[in-house]
Amino acid sequence: MLIVQKYGGTSVANAERILCVAEHIVASYRAGNKMVVVLSAQGDTTDELIAKAQEVNPEPGKRELDMLLATGEQQAVALMALAIHRLGAPALSLNAVQVGIEATSLYGNARIKRIRPERITRALELNNIVIVAGFQGVNRYGDVTTLGRGASDTTAVALSAVLGADLCEIYSDVDGIYTADPRIVHGARKLASISYDEMLELASMGAQVLHNRAVEMAKRHRVKLVLRSAWYFDIEGTEIKEGSTMEKLLFSGLAIDRDVARVSIMGLLDRPGVAYHVFSLLATQKISVDIILQTAGSGKTKDINFTVHQADLDATLKVLETNKEAIGFDTVTFDTGMAKLSIIGAGMTTNFGVASMMFEALYECGVNISMISTSEIKITVVIDEKYADNAAVCIHEKFAQIMNE
Ligand code: ADP
Ligand code: ASP
Ligand code: MG
Repeated sequence: MLIVQKYGGTSVANAERILCVAEHIVASYRAGNKMVVVLSAQGDTTDELIAKAQEVNPEPGKRELDMLLATGEQQAVALMALAIHRLGAPALSLNAVQVGIEATSLYGNARIKRIRPERITRALELNNIVIVAGFQGVNRYGDVTTLGRGASDTTAVALSAVLGADLCEIYSDVDGIYTADPRIVHGARKLASISYDEMLELASMGAQVLHNRAVEMAKRHRVKLVLRSAWYFDIEGTEIKEGSTMEKLLFSGLAIDRDVARVSIMGLLDRPGVAYHVFSLLATQKISVDIILQTAGSGKTKDINFTVHQADLDATLKVLETNKEAIGFDTVTFDTGMAKLSIIGAGMTTNFGVASMMFEALYECGVNISMISTSEIKITVVIDEKYADNAAVCIHEKFAQIMNE
């Protein structure tokens, strides 16, 4: 079998962990499998590198920042190859430039365009275990770009698709996908399997256990994907697959997305094209807007509220202020420190009771709702970030009851 394994930062945080993971990789190799391994940077390396950059320049340029961040994964792969050598097996570490992971040029959030498989295939034919640096690509100028926080998962799935791997195993510090983050909601239940669509919703709504683009790509290329523990190798993980559970399950999970900011534009002229004007300006700045709420203001004006990622708040306010005259509005206000809390499941809006159950849980724990958005398979509320964990526990408890019925 050709197996792609990916290990997250905590799983390879120190020498002891690297040696432990190396043994597991070598065991799979000696069992007769061809092994490609993708690694994240060790422990908190990526955060530490960002902090280091900010020490010398509070607003680091994105190209140089990517040069720096990519070194984290490069260290990890070299160390892993060395550990595997010590166990008497052949291993070769490669970075994105060496592999040929071609990506778009958007520094900090590049997309994988194409991967040249030749270098890896050749190394595999020579019986090597191939260790690839996750989270990085090379753009058409030959510069290193990074693929977005948490994107080593995406590197692993992309390699699985290109190489036609039989299995892609994502090893992490949890032993599976749960109905909510088990560190926050202790009653969260582990799922034996979850459909690509439900996992995609959970990941997109903030469950960082898998990178959303990894799930999307796995679905598109039919990659057999499993999430497992990097500590307890004999525990079965959670399989992410084409699924039918969406037909049956009313509640498949809950996710929290922190670092949300709410922006309110007040006193916009109530005429056609205003929303287009506002959101096209934001789109040209590559700012993604999430929940949008328009309210009828008084007389000839209206208000538009929307959420953005906290990191995009400054840029958002700048665009709006710069174009205040052209857009035509009175004031802009904002709230930081908000969180989005979403419940995901089939028939969210077709089952009358579901939304009210969620709101009842929030009422019972005294949490005020700032914004609401619903779709076929999810209900999202925006609330104050400091209540997010408690709200998650309350909502989960309520829905766990119907899951057990
Ligand atoms: P890695 O470094 O292995 O990529 P991450 O920190 O990115 O690990 O993701 C694993 C974490 O995701 C877990 O420690 C857990 O706290 C969190 N998490 C959030 N939602 C879920 C969920 N629904 N199921 C399991 N883990 C979750
Ligand atoms: N090291 C990167 C990060 O911390 C990529 C990853 O872990 O997947 O975001
Ligand atoms: Mg991760």
